[in-house]
Amino acid sequence: MSSAELYINLANICSNWNALNSLSNGAAGAVVKANAYGLGIKEVGISLAKAGARDFFVAIAEEGAALRRAVGPGPKIYIFSGHMVGDTTLLRDFDLIPLINSAKQLLFHLENSSNQLIGIQLDTGMNRLGMEATEFQELNETISKLKPDLIISHLACADDQTHPMNEKQLVNFNAMTKDINCKKSLAATGGILLGKQYHFDITRPGIGLYGGNPYSNAKRVIGLKLPVIQIRTVLPDETVGYSNTWTAKKITKVATVSSGYADGIFRNMSNKATLYYNEIPNSIIGRISMDLIGVDVSNCKEDPDYLWLLNGKQSIDDLAEEANSIGYEILTALGQRYNRIYI
Ligand SMILES: *Cc1c(COP(=O)(O)O)cnc(C)c1O
Repeated sequence: MSSAELYINLANICSNWNALNSLSNGAAGAVVKANAYGLGIKEVGISLAKAGARDFFVAIAEEGAALRRAVGPGPKIYIFSGHMVGDTTLLRDFDLIPLINSAKQLLFHLENSSNQLIGIQLDTGMNRLGMEATEFQELNETISKLKPDLIISHLACADDQTHPMNEKQLVNFNAMTKDINCKKSLAATGGILLGKQYHFDITRPGIGLYGGNPYSNAKRVIGLKLPVIQIRTVLPDETVGYSNTWTAKKITKVATVSSGYADGIFRNMSNKATLYYNEIPNSIIGRISMDLIGVDVSNCKEDPDYLWLLNGKQSIDDLAEEANSIGYEILTALGQRYNRIYI
């Protein structure tokens, strides 16, 4: 079998959730959008619900339905994109709570759904989703009567603890919500680390659960092991891969591993990233192809039959640096071809 193995440590995801839950004084929900950052909404959702998570957040209603099927009745499931055309039946049948983003969405919701919990998303400066201050003010009476379950906003710069935007958004959020009696939520992973004035009633960690920055104390969650299909010896002046972007300067032992850019190993890591054979680092040489990667394994004493792209030596953030990317993108790009093994 030449499919690569992606190990997903559910126990460490739960342990990260417990740690972030303690840091936010028992207020932690869990963000499992984009198939739990690529790691499997069903497996991750069930594990986190067992660990005690009661409030889940996803991006779109379809993800909410998949999560409800996995965790059953009980946990609350909030939808960041609110109530869009085509969502009404899903929201009702799967007991999902839309976070209403605009006057337009509120009107649409009231026309289509009755007696159903809603939340409200406010814009406090990011200008992505949520009601503006004046819009929220004008709807204040209607919204108060609906007794929203939760009011949220999102921080634009929380990965940088010293950024003045954090406090600015906190001030805006407090000002906008001071007259409404309702649970509140502002902090994602970065916001949790900013301190307790950012925590409110529910926090929304995502990346920290999956072992990524800015939660530097996170336990590692994934390992990625790529099988070696073939090993050859390349002589000086010979080249490896498409477009001859790598030329041997000396006799080189080259392994061709199974996986490529179709599996989320970005092509701009060509000639840059490192794969590990136990403790030994081995450089990617030449262009990353769709399904195959060339690796210089001259430093390995024996011929390796697999190489690790993610392991204890190399985190998603280490790899992201090679790709000029972020851990979030590495995770959510992980391909569908991997044999996912849950621990
Ligand atoms: C993705 C997202 C989160 C989780 O953010 P992390 O940085 O992964 O912790 C929380 N809230 C909103 C609105 C989001 O879009």
